[in-house]
Amino acid sequence: MDPRQAYSELLRRVRESALLESCANLLGWDERTYMPHLGSAHRAEQMALLARLGHEMLTAPIIGELLATVEASPLVGDADSDAAANVREIRRNYNRAVKLPKELVEELARVTTRAQQVWQEARQANNFAAFGPWLEKVVALVRQKAQAIGYPNVPYDALLDEYEPGATTAEITTLFAALRAELVPLISAIIASGRKPHRDWLQGAYPIEQQQRFGREAAAAIGFNFDAGRLDVTTHPFCSGIGPGDCRITTRYYPHHFSESFFGILHEAGHGIYEQGLPAEHFGTPLGTAASLGLHESQSRLWENQVGRSRPFWEYFFPRAQQAFPAALGAVRLDDFLFAVNDVQPSFIRVEADEATYNMHIILRFELEQALVNGDLKPADVPGAWNEKFQQLFNLTPPTDTQGCLQDIHWSMGGLGYFPTYTLGNLYAAQFMEQARRDLPGLEDEFRAGRFQGLKGWLNDKIHRVGQRYRAGDLCQRVTGRPLSHQPLMAYLRGKYESLYGI
Ligand code: ZN
Repeated sequence: MDPRQAYSELLRRVRESALLESCANLLGWDERTYMPHLGSAHRAEQMALLARLGHEMLTAPIIGELLATVEASPLVGDADSDAAANVREIRRNYNRAVKLPKELVEELARVTTRAQQVWQEARQANNFAAFGPWLEKVVALVRQKAQAIGYPNVPYDALLDEYEPGATTAEITTLFAALRAELVPLISAIIASGRKPHRDWLQGAYPIEQQQRFGREAAAAIGFNFDAGRLDVTTHPFCSGIGPGDCRITTRYYPHHFSESFFGILHEAGHGIYEQGLPAEHFGTPLGTAASLGLHESQSRLWENQVGRSRPFWEYFFPRAQQAFPAALGAVRLDDFLFAVNDVQPSFIRVEADEATYNMHIILRFELEQALVNGDLKPADVPGAWNEKFQQLFNLTPPTDTQGCLQDIHWSMGGLGYFPTYTLGNLYAAQFMEQARRDLPGLEDEFRAGRFQGLKGWLNDKIHRVGQRYRAGDLCQRVTGRPLSHQPLMAYLRGKYESLYGI
């Protein structure tokens, strides 16, 4: 076959499977927002069918033949061309998919479905003994998966690569070690300062209707396009990019809590702005797809934290928040509010952690996961290992496994290798923001005036429109002129906390 013809046939097939996947995404969104609960068994069948059809389409031998034809042609000669980037990533997905034996894929799906149910009950009952045997099954299967896929150095590389294409365990180990070495003394200095903000104001009267209005206003202001998206309510917030012109974000509201839904909305809107900024003409191909989970997370955390917890942002939004929530915030000073939303407080639960200690939660999981995958740590010994490491890193011991090793869903889903992407997101966010400040002088004055289009446009150009043309690490090098480093995040955290805590 002519290589050009092979390439367009390859794209046609890949796009078709992406269309099918977007149907599954829409069903998944519906399942977590509006579906009546008795519909879940039927929905599971619909989802399983779509997943099977999609897998068959992507692993069909013809895909391998088309790839081989294009790879042997001059079409991919220029590494920066559209074709080279598309073929590189289609090849990566194809290899990962065909290397996994069908029986292993099915066994993983079966075991993790059950393991998630057991985990949920075990977490509620603080009963690790019930979950332990299932964790053992999951880890055994995940280790088989790593062997089947293959890896450059250690088995964990194969798992990491699923979420962060091209990243290696060795690189992340170095990066996290450098971060930890500077973060630990910063957190200690904050604690030793003895300063603590009043946080009661964040738990006053926050009528849900007002929260909805205020959250929507902020999401729209930072650039989430409501003509091409929706904001709905769910139990566990998420963002789902259905396709061009349709991105769904979700949140949850508590009538007496401000932070959870507001910062949650900024976070999901950040993911949504990335999805909305992907080039529509490349939908369904790597060039129309987000670069990695770490990069995705950088976009959510950039808006949630770098922008959304900054003084200029609140100089604009705080008077509006006072109007929306007069009973809770009417008498509060901006400075006190800012301190409250930037409080650093070591705690047991990752998802409740502040910007500084959050990364320590990730470092702990990253180390334990590697030990599980290498076989150095037996699943049955996880609670002890968790608590010991928690004591080392936080100087605290979780009182229960529910507040310790049972808190996250990831392992029950077989998602070992996922956690590092959260801290990578924080690191990328800080490095991009540092560069944006250089490229866009006066950015903070814009924020003070409630204008965020400058930053959003910069992100659209530098990151969103690029899709998967470059791997996340290469993209970072291109955008910021250097490889990903812990320094921008540390400089940002120091700058913020030195003034808040007088350290
Ligand atoms: Zn996120």
